[in-house]
Amino acid sequence: LNDLSKNIAILGSTGSIGCNALEVIEKLGPPYRAVALSAHSQGQKLIEQVERHRPAAVAITDDSVDDSVAQQIERLGARVYRGSAAMVQLATLAEVDIVLAAVVGAAGLPAVLAAVRAGKTLALANKESLVVAGSLLIPEARRRGVKILPVDSEHSAVFQAMQCGKSDEVRRIILTASGGPFRNATRQQMERATLADALNHPTWRMGNKITIDSATMFNKALEIIEACWLFDVPPDKVEVVIHPESVIHSMVEYVDGSVIAQLSPPDMRTPIQYALTYPQRQEGVSRRLDLTGGFKLHFEPPDTERFPALRLAYDVATRGGTSGAVLNAANEAAVAAFVAGNIPFGEISRLVELTIAGHCLQADPTLDDLLKADRWARQMVGSLIAAQSAALAH
Ligand code: NDP
Ligand code: MG
Repeated sequence: LNDLSKNIAILGSTGSIGCNALEVIEKLGPPYRAVALSAHSQGQKLIEQVERHRPAAVAITDDSVDDSVAQQIERLGARVYRGSAAMVQLATLAEVDIVLAAVVGAAGLPAVLAAVRAGKTLALANKESLVVAGSLLIPEARRRGVKILPVDSEHSAVFQAMQCGKSDEVRRIILTASGGPFRNATRQQMERATLADALNHPTWRMGNKITIDSATMFNKALEIIEACWLFDVPPDKVEVVIHPESVIHSMVEYVDGSVIAQLSPPDMRTPIQYALTYPQRQEGVSRRLDLTGGFKLHFEPPDTERFPALRLAYDVATRGGTSGAVLNAANEAAVAAFVAGNIPFGEISRLVELTIAGHCLQADPTLDDLLKADRWARQMVGSLIAAQSAALAH
């Protein structure tokens, strides 16, 4: 496949990143083409995307989506893949050059791994797959010379700043964090926070899961681990600073004391586009930074007492093995329980911490071991919640 061909498969096209990516691709125009789209539950939205972007193939992964959706899409000229292997099939299609992984959660892992194994360039938004299986994905990508281009805004910023020096000249990576909706909340306010409170993010509009993760700061926890894998640095070289404006997306400090930062308005279309056009830059659809109207940037240290996620991240990044899979799965299960109204907000961090504490670490896991650890953690969270409700009922 030649370098000019930019056929993109978007895994999770109906989500927040997926929709932004389609806008970017449409604006970029040829040779950028969305040739394959995958959706989970939103059949109608997928039909609209197929009408507009005319992909060659789609995947529908939720079995409850009606067959009429698939039929309508086939009439529009796209092949439809269904069932549990559908995303893997899509990610490995011969005509696909770039896989944009924008599915939420560990559910994206099989397709991400398959894309790397098939030699596709990977534009990675789905940070959970790296947190779970960085120990498999990164060596696999290196062996095959596959590029993993970060879509996460912080990692895109670091990736850009890294181009100002050599990796052995890096002193530390400074990840910025907005601090989320509870940056200034008291412990008690956080404990009782409602779903609406947690979804009220000050600077970003994103899918529900990552928005809740921003409120607990598990998003930053996942990003610390993600940074260690992507940039091959030890956890003690990754720091977090709260920066409420979300304009500096992250920084790299070099050994000579120079700190290189990347700035742009909080608009995911910028890092999505850079991952697609790298190593080139092109005019796009994203908002531009306006410095004329009075402009202040603030920084403060994170509070690891109210946000234990940060502490847990360093622990997990240091221990490696199956611990990333456990942290991620426990968090996914706890977030789902909070969204379902089964646990209070404050319980999310506690459940993840208890689950990690109860896990028997496996140092050099296979994919199977990681998937087992993932299942174990979800069950553990389930039993902890059940035990608590039983205790409350007495
Ligand atoms: P959304 O919830 O908005 O979208 C998720 C997408 O994945 C949807 O297309 C959804 O399909 C699909 N999906 C959900 N569950 C499954 C499943 N079990 N199997 C297959 N597909 C599934 O998420 P976001 O776009 O916000 O986030 C996507 C990823 O990008 C996450 O890993 C997130 O951490 C990361 N990210 C997101 C940012 C953002 O600005 N949103 C910023 C940085 C990173 P459907 O809707 O049809 O059910
Ligand atoms: Mg981010």
